[in-house]
Amino acid sequence: MADTLFSKIINREIPANIVHEDDLCLAFRDINPQAPVHILVIPRKPLPRLADATSADRDLLGHLLLTANRIAVAEGIGDAYRLIVNNGADAGQSVFHLHVHILGGRSFTWPPG
Ligand code: AMP
Repeated sequence: MADTLFSKIINREIPANIVHEDDLCLAFRDINPQAPVHILVIPRKPLPRLADATSADRDLLGHLLLTANRIAVAEGIGDAYRLIVNNGADAGQSVFHLHVHILGGRSFTWPPG
């Protein structure tokens, strides 16, 4: 997989406002926040898209969701937040390193645009 912006953040080649780090994943504040809290959770493993994950990634994917919830609680938005995974350019994915958006701190509408 080609080096992406997010692998450069993992490797500390470019700066990020990191809020969580463990052996499987990293979380940092989105540079262009769409809500008062907007954090991205990314696996260290360079999976381009959710569609590229396999059953071998089951624990990793579960870890990303559980970590997202823990971060939401720590950020004070544990009662109301939205998680988003854009899979593919037509779904809005612009960085091809799997990431879970955590958005919170405001009301959201449905359906999303
Ligand atoms: P997506 O469009 O789902 O691929 O989301 C990519 C997200 O990465 C966008 O919300 C961008 O604002 C965010 N982003 C891009 N570059 C950076 C960066 N250097 N640091 C933090 N977030 C970034």
